[in-house]
Amino acid sequence: MTNAHVIVGAGLGGAKAAQTLREEGFTGPVVLIGDEHERPYERPPLSKGYLLGKDEREKIYVHTPHWYAEHDVDLRLGTRVTAVDPAAHQVTMADGSVLAYAKLLLTTGSTPRPLAVPGAELAGVHYLRQAHESDRLKDAFQPGARIVVIGAGRIGLETAAAAVSAGARVTVLEAAELPLLRVLGREVARIFADLHRARGVDLRTSARIAELTGNARTVDAVLLADGTRIPADAVVVGVGISPNTDLATVAGLAVDNGIVTDEHLRASAVDVYAAGDVANAYHPFLGRHIRVEHWANALNRPQAAARAMLGQEVSYDRLPYFYTDQYDLGMEYTGYVEPDGYDQVVFRGDRASGEFVAFWLAGGRVLAGMNVNVWDVTEPIQKLIRSREIVDPARLADPLAPLESLSNSAG
Ligand SMILES: Cc1cc2nc3c(=O)[nH]c(=O)nc-3n(C[C@H](O)[C@H](O)[C@H](O)COP(=O)(O)OP(=O)(O)OC[C@H]3O[C@@H](n4cnc5c(N)ncnc54)[C@H](O)[C@@H]3O)c2cc1C
Repeated sequence: MTNAHVIVGAGLGGAKAAQTLREEGFTGPVVLIGDEHERPYERPPLSKGYLLGKDEREKIYVHTPHWYAEHDVDLRLGTRVTAVDPAAHQVTMADGSVLAYAKLLLTTGSTPRPLAVPGAELAGVHYLRQAHESDRLKDAFQPGARIVVIGAGRIGLETAAAAVSAGARVTVLEAAELPLLRVLGREVARIFADLHRARGVDLRTSARIAELTGNARTVDAVLLADGTRIPADAVVVGVGISPNTDLATVAGLAVDNGIVTDEHLRASAVDVYAAGDVANAYHPFLGRHIRVEHWANALNRPQAAARAMLGQEVSYDRLPYFYTDQYDLGMEYTGYVEPDGYDQVVFRGDRASGEFVAFWLAGGRVLAGMNVNVWDVTEPIQKLIRSREIVDPARLADPLAPLESLSNSAG
């Protein structure tokens, strides 16, 4: 019998869970296993400050190199877990070695979806998930270089902004009618289209990619279904991510758009937990399972999972939160809305000024809020959402009406 707590996936989530186990006083073995060769790091800078050359490499890491030994965390890098056996309470590594666990946390994250067109395997076609891929992009983003970004989601748009800042000539190709359409809806997505076009990005929406063409095995153009050829020195693909659920599936855990967990972050096998990008967890406030691919979720939810592993009463109900920085636009988004789940968008402040808050409402209730270049409002926005009260849209739109005063229970 072991009392080892084993964490598979050494990203932000895994590192925070290990830290919490120690902070909460667990004295048994903690093993943190990751298949990357870098110690755990944060990914947001890879498409922002680090890619722009503003942040030092050291700034991306979750802990110092010594932290793991100092806290008696057995960090095993470059190590892939190939199987989980929930009945035997053990995991198997790629070299065949076996490790027994008392409690297991899966924080295996996600992987960029591959572009499924001919030529996608050519040199010069980039994805962005790992630190070394950000280094390669930095090299490709030269003044005058022709960069084609496929996918106008957050990663695609942030990458486009970094390429523009480096002096590259940037084309962004998006299958939908607008960038970020599914997440933000038409009213707000337009703002991001205008932002990039104003910076000289050639944003082409409703674009269908037919093929990537190459010259001596290196990409030289993107061919669209309508016959348009867009010359490219490098292509960046950002067409979404898939949760890394293979281990869980083979282990027989319930998997449905991620590893299914309850609100206590427990997966469907005893003593197995999941958190971060890979988990599709029941959210008590929203009353449904959601899988969240955001930094704040990878920061906080694995800490909750670690406490649950220690037998503490945990019910995770933080509202989803994410942020993005593109050029001089910084935004935070709090809440959750299905693509067709709102009937009104209310703007507070002047959109043209670049400083405003957008609210998504259904039946007069605020479901989500996004503050753009306006800061320190996340808490009142969360309170408005949590109050579930019907608010007066005119007051919501009025920057002089304190957000704290808009619902009876808020503030
Ligand atoms: C470029 C970029 C920019 C981003 N910017 C933002 C942002 O601005 N705002 C925001 O909210 N979010 C952002 N995100 C999202 C955020 O970084 C993720 O939500 C977060 O990294 C998820 O953390 P995680 O620990 O769940 O998974 P990951 O960070 O994916 O870590 C999982 C780790 O597990 C490893 N692993 C997987 N399977 C195995 C296995 N079988 N054995 C061993 N190891 C395994 C993986 O290789 C990986 O190292 C960004 C992501 C990227 C890539």
